[in-house]
Order: sequence, then structure tokens, then C-alpha cells
Amino acid sequence: MSHTCHWPGCAREVPPKMWGCAHHWFKLPKDLRDRIWAAYVPGQEITKTPSTAYLEVAREAERYARALRVEPGTAGRRDSAPDTPAAQGLLF
Ligand SMILES: [Zn+2]
Repeated sequence: MSHTCHWPGCAREVPPKMWGCAHHWFKLPKDLRDRIWAAYVPGQEITKTPSTAYLEVAREAERYARALRVEPGTAGRRDSAPDTPAAQGLLF
């Protein structure tokens, strides 16, 4: 089973313990990244039972990502233009 970046619209494969690809991971505020790691339980990707704290902060990160993407103006466009790995998802 493949695990892909949690960034909405990004289909890049990442190690299961990673929230997303490096490109998108570093778009998250450090605060969120810290909280994701704080909630991460080693082995959760094997047991498939991440803590509710992890799920909550992962959802929060996804909301943050969506808010960034729908932001009108150049920010969203600049974000999606040079990096559109969504096509990779068609391989699966
Ligand atoms: Zn990504």
C-alpha cells in the first residue's frame, strides 16, 4: 500500500511516517510540524492506529494547506504551477 503526501492534490509518495513530501512539509508552519512530530507514535504506520492527537493535528495541517491553496492571488498559483506531481498518482 502506498502512502502519499497529505497535501491536498499532491500525490507524491512519501515514507509512511512522514506527513508529506519535503516540499509541502516545509510549507507548514514550524508550530504545526512540531505538533505533528509530538503526536506521532513510532510504528503507527504499521499498526494503522495513529493517536487521535495525531489525526487531529494532521487534519489541522490539511486545513492549513487548503487555506493556502484557495487563497486568491499569486500565492496559490505560484504554488501549483511549478510543482504538479498529481500526475504521478495516475500510476497507481
Ligand atoms: Zn506534497
